[in-house]
Amino acid sequence: MGYAEVSVNSPIAQRNTFSYAIPPNLSIEVGQAVWVPFGDKTLQGIVLELTDYPSVEETKEIAGIIEPRPVLSPSQVLLARWISEHYLSPLFDAVALMLPPGFERKVVTFIYSPLSPQEQDISSLTREQRHVLELVWRQGKVSLRELEKALGARQARVVTAQLIGQGLLAKSYELERVKVKPKRVAYLRLAVKAGEARSEAANLRQKRAVKQAALIDFLAERAEPVPWAEARQRVNCDKAAADALVSKGLVEFQQIEVKREPISYRGIAPSAPPRLTAAQKSALKATKSSLLQVATEQAPPATFLLHGVTGSGKTEVYLQALAEAVRLGKRGIVLVPEIALTPQTIERFASRFPHRVAILHSKLSLGEQFDEWQRIRDGEFDVVIGPRSAIFAPQPELGLIVIDEEHEWTYKQQAKSPRYHARDVAIKLAELTRAVVILGSATPDVETFYHAQRGDYRLLQLPERVVPKEGAPLPQVEVIDLRDELKAGNISTFSRSLSQATDKAVANKEQVILFLNRRGGATFIQCRTCGFVLRCRRCEVPLNYHFAEDVLLCHQCNYRMPVPQTCPQCLSRRIKFLGIGTEKLEKEAGHTFPRARLLRWDSDVTRGRYSHQEILNKFRNHNADILIGTQMVAKGLDLPLVTLVGVISADTSLNFPDFRAGERTFQLLSQVLGRAGRGGPKGQVIIQTYSPTHYAIQTAAKHDYASFYEKEIDYRRQLHNPPFSRLARLVYTHTNDALCQRDAERMKRLLREEIDSKGIDDLSVIGPAPAFIHKLRGRFRWQLILRGSEPSAFLSQIPIPRGWTVDIDPLGLV
Ligand code: ADP
Ligand code: ZN
Ligand code: ZN
Repeated sequence: MGYAEVSVNSPIAQRNTFSYAIPPNLSIEVGQAVWVPFGDKTLQGIVLELTDYPSVEETKEIAGIIEPRPVLSPSQVLLARWISEHYLSPLFDAVALMLPPGFERKVVTFIYSPLSPQEQDISSLTREQRHVLELVWRQGKVSLRELEKALGARQARVVTAQLIGQGLLAKSYELERVKVKPKRVAYLRLAVKAGEARSEAANLRQKRAVKQAALIDFLAERAEPVPWAEARQRVNCDKAAADALVSKGLVEFQQIEVKREPISYRGIAPSAPPRLTAAQKSALKATKSSLLQVATEQAPPATFLLHGVTGSGKTEVYLQALAEAVRLGKRGIVLVPEIALTPQTIERFASRFPHRVAILHSKLSLGEQFDEWQRIRDGEFDVVIGPRSAIFAPQPELGLIVIDEEHEWTYKQQAKSPRYHARDVAIKLAELTRAVVILGSATPDVETFYHAQRGDYRLLQLPERVVPKEGAPLPQVEVIDLRDELKAGNISTFSRSLSQATDKAVANKEQVILFLNRRGGATFIQCRTCGFVLRCRRCEVPLNYHFAEDVLLCHQCNYRMPVPQTCPQCLSRRIKFLGIGTEKLEKEAGHTFPRARLLRWDSDVTRGRYSHQEILNKFRNHNADILIGTQMVAKGLDLPLVTLVGVISADTSLNFPDFRAGERTFQLLSQVLGRAGRGGPKGQVIIQTYSPTHYAIQTAAKHDYASFYEKEIDYRRQLHNPPFSRLARLVYTHTNDALCQRDAERMKRLLREEIDSKGIDDLSVIGPAPAFIHKLRGRFRWQLILRGSEPSAFLSQIPIPRGWTVDIDPLGLV
């Protein structure tokens, strides 16, 4: 008899598999989904291994097969094991990442009769038993739920158990059905004849209802109903305009059912690749030859870092490398940050690989995701594009994995287990499937660049922009020292330089972005006169100000101190300066630039009436001169009229209490810099700061990644931070703050003892300290940090008590 090691969908299974015997009538494969008895339940499991001997003496049998075809490939099985081991996550959590969408559904128990009615002797049965049996005969099979409804829960269970005991009935299990609804889309059409509509439009125009008139004219030009989303965008009107026309009886809405095809190829023309620049050519040549060598097993899987500013033609290299992979009979997966999964990106891939591109995306309906997953597994697509979870797509013959903007934090799953990083998973997967990885970025993660320097990855560079034209200049950057402003008597939020430049741009009918970074409510206090920020003496990170207690606190070691009365550096009394929010900035901009039309874009605004797209359209159509916004304005926007970007304060991100603050600042500023002058040569950026000589600001202003990296890697080495160590972050939560702290302290002692008894000398425990978000959904949070060469391996030997979550390779320490 054979045995199977099964990962079972139960919280108590943790990181273990369980041994089951394979009954002779079942043929079981690795990666198959099966039903297994577990305690008194029947649960879903995935077969991870077939063995000749069980790992325990007593085994139960596999109860049945959920789907004959394996749901995980052999490499995915190994990948799931690796994820569970490395990130210390329950094994089934890792397996679940790769299951088809909607797979983890409820189990429905059915009762059926294994014999035909003629074969059964029912003379000795009770009335209830006969009743149940007849019900089952009539319907073929009945769900236990239904029987319970008909007979009452207790009676149904008792009677069916009796009949099963006599061999007259049997149980089977099925997954609950996926509820997939047809997709409907709102269309808009004229309710009157086109001629009549046109004269109404003229009327409306006289009454100054311009938007309504434009909408009517637009509909009158088109014979057929138009999708509302399209009409709204083309006419640039809001729902109110359409509703007004509906109430006048001039137009009507219609719900039309559409096919669930995530990519609409209508209007996407197949496109041919452009002639590559010399730099692109040499990057492509290296990846192509690697693809060939890996595919023919002449070389081990390889990872490339493609380093080039935005617009340097990285995507073009991805596209042609993918084409080469396809030529070799392989397929690809392309990961993009969630925010970059825009129609433009998809269109670009779809036009190069017509009808051969799949997208996976949480915004797709479950039905769409499910269909897409099946089609990917069947090998219908050359390329799968998606956010981090797309790395788990069942793409067969995987030959190339591309991770665009590899430095983005969205590649790390933080909120739930497994807390994996898609980049590390991709590199592992490539190793298992023999694939090539291309990591692309304008501002590579310092750790990635370190690996490229060491030769673990191969470095490819695209030093120049190809748009607007080859070798186009990057924008002019001016760094303003805010201390000088105060000295000169300017107490405004806007430096003299920034306000003059803004006035000039607005007068020239150009557009301006004022960028304000407010991250996660980080509140450090700063001396308004000299810019001094108080730091923890032990950890070097800025102390965080807590309103409620009016104290300064270190989130790594719990050091606390009162807010000083005067600045320790310059003795100024203006020490408690907390920066400015977007709303206040908007008000001040209103005073300083009275003639400019302002538009605010932050999460408060978008949570309310306007969508991102509406705000963006308004700005793009030049219905505003100055856009005031947070992080979101920095990402991926292409706004040709913007000639000036002002960074109100670079210090907010610089003083974030984390060792990656310098890197974050450099990345953020580089991105912001990329927003200016997209349309032409006149781009200008003004960065305001109290730390004008900080290396992250200086190097970002000069577009000089290499110098930034040199400085940053030095600091990392000195302070023994990644990549020179690895981190694990342990967070404990409890409804009682004092208990929470005490338990965290107990855990620290336990870890210390364990470290000492094992004689590990390169592992240190930092904390406990209150987490940066100290209270979340009614629970207090305290954290410990483990730093050393192998915290994951060490922790895997220690039973982690309930209430703790472990984050291996965390993004940050707060
Ligand atoms: P990145 O991914 O580095 O931001 P892209 O590949 O998107 O750069 O290139 C930026 C723009 O330049 C795109 O519109 C692209 O179509 C165009 N482009 C890229 N390479 C070339 C080339 N060799 N010749 C002409 N246009 C190019
Ligand atoms: Zn000061
Ligand atoms: Zn500290």
